[in-house]
Amino acid sequence: MNAPHATEVVGEAVLGAPEEADPAWPWHRPGVYAVAPGVFRIPLPLPDAGLHSVNAYVLDGPDGVVVVDPGQATPEGREHLARGLAMLGRHPRDVRRCLVTHVHRDHYTRAVELRREFGPGIALGRAERRSLALIADPAYSIVGTQLELLVRAGAADLARELADADDGVPRDLWEQPDTWLEDEAVDLGSRVLDAIPTPGHTRGHLVFRDDAAGLLLAGDHVLPHITPSIGFEPDVPDRPLGDYLRSLARVRALPDTWLLPAHGHVTSSVHRRVDELQEHHAHRLEETVVPLLERTCTAAEVAGRLRWTRRRRAFEELGPFDRMLAVLETRSHLDVLVDRGRARRAEDDGVERYAST
Ligand SMILES: [Zn+2]
Repeated sequence: MNAPHATEVVGEAVLGAPEEADPAWPWHRPGVYAVAPGVFRIPLPLPDAGLHSVNAYVLDGPDGVVVVDPGQATPEGREHLARGLAMLGRHPRDVRRCLVTHVHRDHYTRAVELRREFGPGIALGRAERRSLALIADPAYSIVGTQLELLVRAGAADLARELADADDGVPRDLWEQPDTWLEDEAVDLGSRVLDAIPTPGHTRGHLVFRDDAAGLLLAGDHVLPHITPSIGFEPDVPDRPLGDYLRSLARVRALPDTWLLPAHGHVTSSVHRRVDELQEHHAHRLEETVVPLLERTCTAAEVAGRLRWTRRRRAFEELGPFDRMLAVLETRSHLDVLVDRGRARRAEDDGVERYAST
């Protein structure tokens, strides 16, 4: 594996060398961080206080600039990206292509704005097609299709609470990409990235792997500090956690590389973090089955018994949006338990209930 070895200083940030050496340095501190020759991380602030920022990765080569995940369409995001590019001697008009790992607003919507201003092409995973069509509908709400699932999961109250939630993104920003990517090599001239479908966080999520440089642009598939949400997308598949676990295994089977995540520091081993995530979900599946040993439960009831986030918070302490993510994620764990013969699911009056086997 080639280690990133840039050690220069650009703007406010100390570069490269490797970032994980100083975990006290907040990953979202504004600046430009050299990750590898011609590869730079620019954290862009997000309105969502929980996530802080999203990392745009700038691939700078003789044939222009490619941005992976240019972030969310907000004035701050636009300014930080432009400022970061300026530190590299570039301008947003030099961006010739945006590669987007998935259709969530904090990754996709700034790409559409950039295209409107300067015309770079946008590439997105083909399996996001239906979700994008649903979000682009003027009648869509952020929790639209999620509401129905919440009711089935036994969280009708929460569904009512969230009914008027709005994602703050103008509907007309959800334009189509220029290219729908599948499992394929993306030739950028000076480098080739393998676009690898990694369904789970969303149905059409892609990671981009630079084999020669030993880098994985992982989007939200593998995050260093948090576990990606499962089942939060307009077009929810049947078994999003099953998909996610298979996608983790796919990435784990490739030779190890540096991890370039969409949220968090760059770290030196994809394998190490995938191992932790696999362990997390194995442990979570065991925790999820425990309430079923006493009685039959809905997904919402099981979610209420579990602890959430790295701080192990109680379900009731979470805000409504996070409670929604928690219920959907619990439901995905329960369905994996059903697939593995550890639980049974029965639907009664439009509500799913789970029992241990
Ligand atoms: Zn994200």
